[in-house]
Amino acid sequence: MFSTLLRPKMKQHASTFRFDLLVIGGGITGAGIALDAVTRGMSVLLVDMQDFAEGTSSRSTKLIHGGLRYLKQMELKIVSETGRERKVVYENAPHVTEPERMLLPFHKGGTFGPFMTSAGLAVYDRLAGVGKAERRAMLSPEETLRLEPLLKQDGLLGGGHYVEYRTDDARLTLEVLKKAAEKGALCLNHCRAEELIYDAEGRVAGAQIRDRLDGSRFRADADHVINAAGPWVDEVRGLDAIDNDKHLKLSKGVHIVISQSRFPLRQAVYFDSPDGRMIFAIPRDGKAYVGTTDTFYDGDPEGVAATEDDVDYLLEAANGMFPEIGLTRRDVESTWAGVRPLIHEEGKDPSEISRRDEIWESESGLLTMAGGKLTGYRKMAQEAVDRIVRRSKDRTFGPCITKALRLSGGDFGDPAELELYIEGKANEAELYGLTREEGREIAAFYGTNADVVFRFAHAAGGGAGLSAAVRGRILYAIHGEMAATPADFLVRRTGWMFFDADRVRAEGKKVTEYMAELLFLNQGEKARMLQDLDQAISQTAGLQGG
Ligand SMILES: Cc1cc2nc3c(=O)[nH]c(=O)nc-3n(C[C@H](O)[C@H](O)[C@H](O)COP(=O)(O)OP(=O)(O)OC[C@H]3O[C@@H](n4cnc5c(N)ncnc54)[C@H](O)[C@@H]3O)c2cc1C
Repeated sequence: MFSTLLRPKMKQHASTFRFDLLVIGGGITGAGIALDAVTRGMSVLLVDMQDFAEGTSSRSTKLIHGGLRYLKQMELKIVSETGRERKVVYENAPHVTEPERMLLPFHKGGTFGPFMTSAGLAVYDRLAGVGKAERRAMLSPEETLRLEPLLKQDGLLGGGHYVEYRTDDARLTLEVLKKAAEKGALCLNHCRAEELIYDAEGRVAGAQIRDRLDGSRFRADADHVINAAGPWVDEVRGLDAIDNDKHLKLSKGVHIVISQSRFPLRQAVYFDSPDGRMIFAIPRDGKAYVGTTDTFYDGDPEGVAATEDDVDYLLEAANGMFPEIGLTRRDVESTWAGVRPLIHEEGKDPSEISRRDEIWESESGLLTMAGGKLTGYRKMAQEAVDRIVRRSKDRTFGPCITKALRLSGGDFGDPAELELYIEGKANEAELYGLTREEGREIAAFYGTNADVVFRFAHAAGGGAGLSAAVRGRILYAIHGEMAATPADFLVRRTGWMFFDADRVRAEGKKVTEYMAELLFLNQGEKARMLQDLDQAISQTAGLQGG
């Protein structure tokens, strides 16, 4: 059950059944917990008040990484754990995780010198359990420039070349949720937990839920409730009758997207900004994105967006390290902004606060999990569900099995099979009326679910200004990935809003009309959808004209 058309049935089921576990929040943390719990034999309901991954989990730097910056802060446990976990993510979902070598240039007077970089990356490789073939290489200035000719040459002393993994954060979250749903978890997006429910002993025992799409309400009963609401965990804890003193500090991070025609970046680079913070510049899908900022934020996380100051800061950093490109606000095609849910530490700057995860329990039994990284989601989930298992003295649940559990679309014996698979699908695509290139793109994007998208594309055919491939993707997003709004599709299901803004401008309205038809919406509902589309476009738009 992971189809938008089945929402009424899912809500009915959610309101008549008592679950072992209710998860509040469908970002990567909640998704991981739902998958871990359901595969140990628990009945699970997960709700998200927005779309899945619409919070921080679609707004990260999109790296499954070992967190080199934590080495500088001597957070060795995070480096070691995230470094090892990224391999697990890669093995279980190679279609959303791609090894990508990162270049760390060092300049005279910069944060890292040749010695520090070499020693640091060697420790990093060791802690993260990096295989021999992937270990860091130290480069001369000439070799560094050969990899990335746009780099600032003045004072360049060389570079370190080390392995990271690129991901699509929202797609990763969706693949975890789809697997959880396949295993029997009930996952509902656009459904907000508004009130907590307690049993006679004052233990939390469920929540009142409101569907934000149609305004309907239902009650969800559960033996255990976990708050995985990311930047909103304090808000959900505010619903709890009994509170404790731990709280979050929110930090905002922004990214900007620039066309490769203006910023022909060849190689992912991790570099010093003028104020000494480290910034990423990463090539992707004909674009380059640059981020991130790190500033305290106390506004509403739902409305977080890039400001002119954020964009200027990143442009200055990019122009400093890549002096020939001369970027201006006009070059920024799109932006995204996210909020890091950090555990408050008195007197520390945003960049200094630890990214570690924590789980804690209120006196009512409400569990809360926050902090952490995309990369460590599986371990975090294991820790949370272990705790629930320990609390369930009268029930027996299985051990954690997610380390070797393929995510949805990731059914490969070995990640190395992916390339052959994509070529095979390119050959097959023509049988479904698609081009080889469309077949290749669909296979690379959806992994072993590509066949379903092919079949949808074939059944839909082209029409109303959209190709069969796009219509197939929309059908799959609605029937197989719970997309309910144009932004669900254009932001979280495809990433086009960030990386293909021209396509969104050209096809966004047609996508909306096709979705409205498939979802049987009336004129009023369709008009609201078009409004939502405009709002999503303006939230992610670049700041052109400066
Ligand atoms: C700028 C930036 C860059 C980052 N880069 C990286 C990176 O490259 N690699 C990495 O590993 N990590 C990175 N991170 C960290 C990572 O993105 C986060 O740790 C992670 O996404 C947090 O996920 P989450 O599920 O806890 O929170 P979220 O993704 O925010 O999910 C919480 C969900 O709870 C829902 N919710 C809230 N209240 C309710 C309610 N009452 N009822 C129902 N649902 C509710 C929200 O709608 C939301 O979808 C980055 C973070 C930021 C901000």
